[in-house]
Amino acid sequence: MSTQQRTLPRHVRHLVIGAGFAGLGAAIKLNEAGERDFVVLEKGDDVGGTWRANTYPGAACDVPSQLYSFSFGPNPDWSMSFSPQPEIHAYLRRVAEESGTLDRFFFGTTMREARWDDDAQLWLVSTDRGDLTAATIISGSGGLSEPKLPDIDGIDSFAGEVFHSARWDHDVDLAGKRVAVIGTGASAIQIIPELAKVAGHVDVYQRTAPYVVPRNDRRYTRLERFAFRRVPAVMKAYRTAIYWGRELYVPGFTFQRRLLAPARAMALGNIKKGIDDPALRERVTPDFAVGCKRILISNTYYPTLAADHVDLVTDRIAKITGNAVVTADGVERPIDVLVVATGFHTTEQPIAHHIIGRDGRTLAEVGAEHGSANYKGTTVHGFPNLFQIVGANTGLGHSSMVFMIESQLAYVMDAIRTMQVNHYGTVEPRQDAQDAWNHDLQRRMRRTVWSTGGCASWYLDAQGRNTTLWPRTTYTFRKLLATFDVSAYDVQPLVERSRDHSTEGATA
Ligand code: NAP
Repeated sequence: MSTQQRTLPRHVRHLVIGAGFAGLGAAIKLNEAGERDFVVLEKGDDVGGTWRANTYPGAACDVPSQLYSFSFGPNPDWSMSFSPQPEIHAYLRRVAEESGTLDRFFFGTTMREARWDDDAQLWLVSTDRGDLTAATIISGSGGLSEPKLPDIDGIDSFAGEVFHSARWDHDVDLAGKRVAVIGTGASAIQIIPELAKVAGHVDVYQRTAPYVVPRNDRRYTRLERFAFRRVPAVMKAYRTAIYWGRELYVPGFTFQRRLLAPARAMALGNIKKGIDDPALRERVTPDFAVGCKRILISNTYYPTLAADHVDLVTDRIAKITGNAVVTADGVERPIDVLVVATGFHTTEQPIAHHIIGRDGRTLAEVGAEHGSANYKGTTVHGFPNLFQIVGANTGLGHSSMVFMIESQLAYVMDAIRTMQVNHYGTVEPRQDAQDAWNHDLQRRMRRTVWSTGGCASWYLDAQGRNTTLWPRTTYTFRKLLATFDVSAYDVQPLVERSRDHSTEGATA
């Protein structure tokens, strides 16, 4: 989508950051509520967020598409049960275009800093397109937006092509090349089978073997697509069935690990089916409880590892030279291209360094002290009128993040309504309410397979606290966020001198 050369307004009632599912959803919900005085800042050149950025070969959703879409934007045209990235991106573009909100999006615009001004009851925001003030900020900057590069000795000296999975360089011709992939996470296992179709040789560097269960993917039949289009109840029934099927995983993750035994059996069966060599089978068999890390899905990953021109390397990478990867056992494997599929900065989101709260500290500084604590995954003590979509402890290992995003958006919209009706200038979660929320979360976390499953994962922060996942059903999350519980908040009346910029101002 074209980057507008328009000028940013000097003040908006609501500033939305990011144009992925969260930011786009926020724009649509604000618009629907008649809150038309907002802008969306997006550093990329299009809507789509992670589905714009991740264009690597094989990129597809591993949550069924009927559920991995907005409830208010059903799509009868999904081609597959797990749709590929280009379809998801196209879906988001269509939803954005049909929403009539794109004139308020500023693409190619990076927020540099947002600083809370308590007297003015405003966020003072600087961007690379100019400054503005905003009464509220809805941040949808995404938990998986900032690639994490491995700290490997010599990686900067590599003379060939090197890129991260989320920054795929489509100009690099991989045909016949020797390629190394570092990582065996959700991205890597989608990339490796596609790479192996074109590359001359692929070395896969595995640090931890993941559980990979079969991907029950299939193309929707013409009859199904006809029914989705003509009888919306059919599409809704699919969505509901997928939703509850996914929720069945929650007890296994959160308190009864034994319930995940079928998933382990499926993964071991997948290994057996895809790989004949007993030694290779052993090397890809995980040594921790299933579910501790994200359960991955693929029918092609194990057969690809078994192919003659693909080598699985499990020795630690010692260094990278100008043209090779060298492992701790001294073996040097020459390569032309290095693909780094090592994940993202998750427990500490980069934007947290740029949002400065009431006491002058950044969200990152406060997060480092309090373990990214927030209230209901959405608001943070010390940061009035800031709403984070996909904040701490809202992530999922089993179901659709779009469901969580919509739950949060309902809460945010009710907060905004509450502010308007009561002429509040600020809402900020009380420290005791936030502490109680986090205490309960961390208490529940102790019993989960993510804490007890014997693995190291990006779900955990530097202190070993799981600040990433939601440890209950998504249904419970939705119920808890259905209405804005103002009793958990400190509120301030709207100050007179900010009325020019007030949340009561005329709508655009
Ligand atoms: P990831 O799950 O964090 O996996 C990173 C991989 O790189 C892991 O295998 C990790 O090994 C390895 N690694 C990291 N640093 C390393 C180092 N210094 N040396 C060697 N290996 C290293 O990242 P991702 O695969 O990009 O996936 C991130 C998340 O994105 C997923 O969990 C999922 O939520 C989402 N995602 C979703 C989809 C989808 O829906 N289709 C697709 C892709 C990604 P260890 O396991 O030992 O840490």
